[in-house]
Amino acid sequence: MGGGGVGKSALTIRFVHQLFVEKYDPTIEDSYRRNLNVDGVMVSLEVLDTAGTEQASSYLFRASRPVFMSLSSMYMRSGDGFLLVFSLTNSDSLLELHAIHEQIQRIKETARPPHEKARVPIVLVGNKLDLVSERQVNREAAVAVSQSWGGVPYYETSARREINVTEIFADVVRQMVKS
Ligand code: GDP
Ligand code: MG
Repeated sequence: MGGGGVGKSALTIRFVHQLFVEKYDPTIEDSYRRNLNVDGVMVSLEVLDTAGTEQASSYLFRASRPVFMSLSSMYMRSGDGFLLVFSLTNSDSLLELHAIHEQIQRIKETARPPHEKARVPIVLVGNKLDLVSERQVNREAAVAVSQSWGGVPYYETSARREINVTEIFADVVRQMVKS
């Protein structure tokens, strides 16, 4: 999940089809399957590439009107693990993730019995690492956010150059297996 244009679809297509899409319709929302070997165990992964949650997340800052959040809260309820993606070239896209993270915590908390304190599998992803000269977010700022979320793993990725793409999915699967 994450704001518009951060590279959610590019990362998904890179992971599922091993190619880079220059232009991908921002309104397309689809789910994909890929088998992934994680530490010697084959896992069948269903990946939902979300779209159109941008409006929902921007509304989260203004008013928590459930009607605008129904779609994203549906993903949050059904998801077992989450990649929270921002673009390293856009510092606003990192700020946007706070509301999404908070909403995931809230939804997952009410979904499980109070005595179970399992962590929600989450990975923070700073994408577009290859756009070095356009970079706006330094590593320290992103690590600080990951720490404030209880020390979730943080990766810097490039869908274009295929850096750390499989790793982010493998990490969230490892957390899902443990939780
Ligand atoms: P989404 O709205 O989050 O699904 O974003 P998209 O996957 O559609 O990507 C938005 C734009 O950023 C597209 O033009 C992509 O080609 C580009 N993009 C995505 N990931 C990368 C990346 O790692 N490096 C570069 N240079 N461009 C990227
Ligand atoms: Mg997209």
